[in-house]
Amino acid sequence: MVKITCFKCHWSWSLSSEEVKTIFDALTPEDNYYAVGCPKCRRVNKVTRKQLQQALPRPAAEPDTPESEVDEAAPPEQNSEEAAPEQES
Ligand SMILES: [Zn+2]
Repeated sequence: MVKITCFKCHWSWSLSSEEVKTIFDALTPEDNYYAVGCPKCRRVNKVTRKQLQQALPRPAAEPDTPESEVDEAAPPEQNSEEAAPEQES
């Protein structure tokens, strides 16, 4: 939940966690804030990305993704030792 106080009329209201999540998901990486209109005077107030981030529901822990083992085919051993034919004397 984010509590917002309008800088113009000092009306305060809050955004629910769900609203925050929706807003945050809609932010582009370039957006450093979200512009929210005051419900009372319609002045645009800025909610910073950080404020939104802090109000987000706890993010799910990232699952551990072990690096997949690379199955590199080992080059076949070169067996160049040719059995020398035994010389019969
Ligand atoms: Zn206002």
